[in-house]
Amino acid sequence: MRCLMPRTLEEMADALSGFTEKSKVIAGGTDYVIQARRGKFDPDILLYPGMIPALHKVRRGERELRVGAMATMQEISRALEGDPAFRAIADAASDVGSPQIRNKATMAGNLCNASPAGDMLPVSWLYDAEVELLCADGSICLVPVSEFIVGPQKTALKPGQAVISVVMNCGPWDGFISAFKKIGSRERVSISREGMAACVRLGKDGAIAQARLTLGAVASTPLRIPEAEVLMEGRHLEDGELLADVTKVVARTIHDHCRPANRQYKTEAARGLTADLFTLLRERI
Ligand SMILES: Cc1cc2nc3c(=O)[nH]c(=O)nc-3n(C[C@H](O)[C@H](O)[C@H](O)COP(=O)(O)OP(=O)(O)OC[C@H]3O[C@@H](n4cnc5c(N)ncnc54)[C@H](O)[C@@H]3O)c2cc1C
Repeated sequence: MRCLMPRTLEEMADALSGFTEKSKVIAGGTDYVIQARRGKFDPDILLYPGMIPALHKVRRGERELRVGAMATMQEISRALEGDPAFRAIADAASDVGSPQIRNKATMAGNLCNASPAGDMLPVSWLYDAEVELLCADGSICLVPVSEFIVGPQKTALKPGQAVISVVMNCGPWDGFISAFKKIGSRERVSISREGMAACVRLGKDGAIAQARLTLGAVASTPLRIPEAEVLMEGRHLEDGELLADVTKVVARTIHDHCRPANRQYKTEAARGLTADLFTLLRERI
């Protein structure tokens, strides 16, 4: 196996030009190493993009938020915890695994691993995120994350392509507050059994003017819940009936999309999860 550590994007494209079906990129290695030990990979080339400084950055401009492919969960959560519009990403990143995992794991790795339980999937869906791909010929293209992740552990990544950043437009989320909450089998270091992300914009009267909700770890890819979003518009986050109405729709969505074996507990858990998410949003007004 050849290990390549390019120092620039040009060198990285050059390295990608030698890729075969077996070649792999490694970022934090928190998924890769476990899967490699199980014999899932036997790469001829292993490419580590961590020597390219630009890929470690989280850049929040007026027009776009750009999370470099080597930015760790710890760095992402630090960069965005004070940013109401993108706080949901900070919530999700700050709840991944343990501190040791968060110091290595990346958002790009989470999306490329494409686990239905990956915490960065529902937040990427929430903001219509795109992945920026570097190709072997040096060209760069953007692919919506909803087209990039095609199923459990399956992405649209072709040999000779790698993710260099995850990009979100800022304009649509101006004035929004956001949150992410998950439940797992235990309090900490727990893979999501169910995760929910929301962002809302309040009007001058304090009522919700716009809302978006996504659910993770229920179906093979995250679900948006337009019916709940419409229900929320024109109503107040403090309205107890709103919480009950949204919970019903969330529970129905889970019931309709979930595997029968998990259906009962996931539907039941939707109550607490929706209530916790609303509490977080109210605290952030
Ligand atoms: C103890 C433990 C707890 C965990 N807890 C959570 C949790 O709470 N929530 C959660 O969502 N996940 C969790 N995970 C899973 C894992 O930490 C995350 O999925 C992490 O974000 C993966 O990122 P990484 O940088 O380590 O990816 P890697 O392991 O380096 O790579 C993962 C996959 O993506 C590919 N890849 C990585 N980067 C690129 C790139 N730039 N271009 C192309 N392909 C690429 C690799 O080839 C590999 O197939 C946990 C893992 C462990 C071991």
